Amino acid sequence: MTNLAPSDEQYDPAIGAEVDQLLARRTRDIRLKGEIMRLFRARVWSQTAKIIRAWMIWVALLDVLTLTVNMVILPSAITTRMLLPAAIIPPVAMAVVLLWRKPQAPWVEASSLITGMFLILLSVALVGVSAGGEFYERQLNVMLFVAITAIIIFGIPLAWTVAIAGLALGLYLVFQLQNPAIEHGSAAAGTLFFASGIFATVAARRIMTILAQKTFLFELRDRRRVAELAKANQRLELLARTDPLTGLANRRWMTETLSRIWGSDKRCLDGAALLMCDIDHFKKLNDHLGHAEGDRCLVEVAGIIQENVRRDYDHVARYGGEEFLVLLPGVTEEEASAVAERIRTSVEAAAIPNPGTRARRVTLSVGVAMQTADEAISPEQLQRHADTALYLAKERGRNRIVLRRPDSEECKPVRWAQ
Ligand code: GH3
Ligand code: MG
Ligand code: MG
Repeated sequence: MTNLAPSDEQYDPAIGAEVDQLLARRTRDIRLKGEIMRLFRARVWSQTAKIIRAWMIWVALLDVLTLTVNMVILPSAITTRMLLPAAIIPPVAMAVVLLWRKPQAPWVEASSLITGMFLILLSVALVGVSAGGEFYERQLNVMLFVAITAIIIFGIPLAWTVAIAGLALGLYLVFQLQNPAIEHGSAAAGTLFFASGIFATVAARRIMTILAQKTFLFELRDRRRVAELAKANQRLELLARTDPLTGLANRRWMTETLSRIWGSDKRCLDGAALLMCDIDHFKKLNDHLGHAEGDRCLVEVAGIIQENVRRDYDHVARYGGEEFLVLLPGVTEEEASAVAERIRTSVEAAAIPNPGTRARRVTLSVGVAMQTADEAISPEQLQRHADTALYLAKERGRNRIVLRRPDSEECKPVRWAQ
């Protein structure tokens, strides 16, 4: 159950490098493309869509409201002529609202918005053109005003903004050229005048978009740094909790795990065992075969212990030099003794040479401490009991198991039919 592997925090290093490159540029030279552009669009989509939907609803409401007021204050001959073109706006605006409820393919979004804007601007212009007289030019100016508000607040790609600006100016020019009240030259001059204003608006919109993109790049960079930091922390934590030689958890981890799960893991409350395993005469192995051989022996014994416990339930740690701790949650005295004996016999059967000893092979002594449902003890007490039992196992001749019950001072040797 000892899972010390770091969880994989996914982030694309290629995107990270591109973000850094973009942020190193001057703000006005920032251009998002490819995957980063896709991420930016996805990030701002709901906000952009909300603004577009709200704008459409307001334009439709204002259209109805203006028409109603006009019906009250203007002669009916004029308002009747306004009625038909003004009726275009509400259904068009509602269609755009419906389409912008969910993300669509970029071409669908672009064409719906640009067509919708064209029809709305055309409607505003036609209201004036149909009413004629003083309303003709006034409505064309209102149309430009409507276009400018959209250009400023719609956070859409620059090409779409330019298309809306172009449509507004085109409509203005076409209708002014047909305005019987003014000369063609004056129509062209008026269009140029408004074009400069609209150009400034588009430029302002472009800067706002670039600033939003820059903020997004900062956000991506921060997110990546946080992910890197979390990964580095995970690695450090792993190192701090792992024994580098055997790959097992270390003493610190075992102490932490014990105090964490003790009292919270029901299986521990019902009964648990702590096995303290110590290689016999390990010093002699080092003395006769060298430290490197000693290290190899430690790795092998660590592997044998792990093979003999339940992978998903039990915890194994290297407690010190040649000592290993095994926590077996939810086991009875018999089960714990059986596991301890299995470990001991497996080590013996592995026949790892230890020339300075009588057995001439590596053997293991194990102290077993129990916690039962009737007799709850603290993790510290449990460790002390395991230590005492191990001491007795050594004293009684090594290569054996001694078990310490929670309710008695007595330690009993565990004997098995061999
Ligand atoms: P006993 O049967 O009483 O346990 O005797 P022992 O020789 O196993 O115990 P002792 O405590 O006298 O010696 C333990 C030895 O383990 C001493 C130390 O040099 C060695 N040791 C501790 N850590 C390592 C290690 O990482 N690698 C190697 N090769 N030896 C180690
Ligand atoms: Mg030893
Ligand atoms: Mg020892």
